[in-house]
Amino acid sequence: MATSSLAVSSLNVPMNSIFIGGQWVTPEGRDLIPVDNPATSEVIASIVDADCSDVHAAFTAARTALPAWSDLTADQRADHLDALADALHKYGDDLATLASREIGMPISESRAVQAGLPEAVLRSTADVARHFAWNYVDASGSQIIREPVGVVLGITPWNFPVHQIVAKLAPALVAGCTIVIKPAELTPLNALFLARLCAEVGIPAGVVNVVTGRGSTTGEMLVQSDGYDLVTFTGSLTVGRHIGAVAGQRVVRATLELGGKSPAVVLDDDGLVDAVRTTVRNCFTNAGQKCNAPTRLIVPEEARARATEIAVAAANEYVIGDPLDEATTMGPLASAAQRDKVLGYVEGAKSRGATVAGGTPVDGLFVRPAIITDVEEHDPVVQDEIFGPVLVILGHHGEDDAVRLANDTPYGLSAEVWSSDASQAQRVVRRIKAGQVRVNGVRSPRLPIAPFGGYKASGLGRELGPFALEEFLEIKAVLGRTDEPEEKR
Ligand code: NAP
Ligand code: MG
Repeated sequence: MATSSLAVSSLNVPMNSIFIGGQWVTPEGRDLIPVDNPATSEVIASIVDADCSDVHAAFTAARTALPAWSDLTADQRADHLDALADALHKYGDDLATLASREIGMPISESRAVQAGLPEAVLRSTADVARHFAWNYVDASGSQIIREPVGVVLGITPWNFPVHQIVAKLAPALVAGCTIVIKPAELTPLNALFLARLCAEVGIPAGVVNVVTGRGSTTGEMLVQSDGYDLVTFTGSLTVGRHIGAVAGQRVVRATLELGGKSPAVVLDDDGLVDAVRTTVRNCFTNAGQKCNAPTRLIVPEEARARATEIAVAAANEYVIGDPLDEATTMGPLASAAQRDKVLGYVEGAKSRGATVAGGTPVDGLFVRPAIITDVEEHDPVVQDEIFGPVLVILGHHGEDDAVRLANDTPYGLSAEVWSSDASQAQRVVRRIKAGQVRVNGVRSPRLPIAPFGGYKASGLGRELGPFALEEFLEIKAVLGRTDEPEEKR
């Protein structure tokens, strides 16, 4: 089953190994977990299900590396991030291909979000650090010093695996923290490749450590350890609640990026075609396995039938197939569990009388995207995060009703608002409870620094830009005179 190393470009990533203290460690006697390509079911490699001695070794390495790393100036740490960004640029195609093989994401999407976006996050975070107020005197004459929280535990999911790791690693490192990362069991290889790049660019040993394994075994041991000072988690609400509870008991900080059931609110039918087609595209990125996917399209009731026709036509344009084929626009779902969950929700909605287009199985883990309408507001397909290519269309009766529907789920990660009236758009933006609101189909800016994270059950804390850096910093107030504060750490 296992190969000894995975050749990615000219760099070899040792298999059945974890990355601790700058070394590839191949522990004896651990279970091996196969990593497969969801498009073909082919086993690509295997990984170690790390145990508590590995967990202990990883935290010890991170703790040992902490003083020297946090003693560097912020500018020096930012330079390391830029070097890692250069490596991502150089090996971006290889990383994108590897991520596509692990997760089934179409290669064109992978290039943008598994390579291009993490590179931009590293560079923008480095830049934020260079201009950050690390040390200043406030209006009362007290000196305010920002210091790293310490050793960070990062636990990440499989859907945008490289981005989700880098969104934690970049601010943690530039803050002066060291990190132990546990990637998702479905997509660990890109994390090991990233570790390889960290070594390649000379990030000091122990600053970045990668431990692989199952969430229920390795993940749980990591979380229960007293080796970390902050845990940063992206994943499901269920696991996030558990990690938050453990962190609360220990009084360590937890940042949680959890799920979503994001609305796209169309307030009038000017530009309906653009609004619906853009929503379909944003909903079905990565076969809908995207936490901020706009999965509830809320249109004026009188436009619902036309919106449904437009959405069904857009969904029918998807080219489903091999993720490595440039023409493919939708790959497989990440696992059989994910496929079964999606098909179960679609069948459930049908049985309750919904009108459904698509949502049918193709081969293996491939599923045709589904457009669902004629459902009750509290139907599970309207309320639950499905994490697949399923768009639900609801009708509203004016602005108040649209806002009510938009806010009527436990989540609040993101939202989209479409209106031809700018003052109405601003009013509705203010009324929606979500961490990010996009107006009239604006695309992501090139500089990924707008804070990302959720209201309500979508989480605690923010990623990207200066708000992300804040999450990894302690605040020290010095009352009384010492030397003049340095400009920067
Ligand atoms: P998940 O089951 O919560 O897993 C996330 C990570 O936690 C994985 O590394 C997993 O390991 C690990 N884990 C599982 N149980 C654990 C435990 N008891 N202790 C410690 N770690 C544990 O979520 P998922 O199914 O991978 O990802 C999908 C979810 O993530 C969706 O709900 C989605 O909305 C959310 N998400 C949120 C964001 C955001 O930024 N808000 C972004 C992406 C995804 P294994 O992989 O080995 O199980
Ligand atoms: Mg897989």
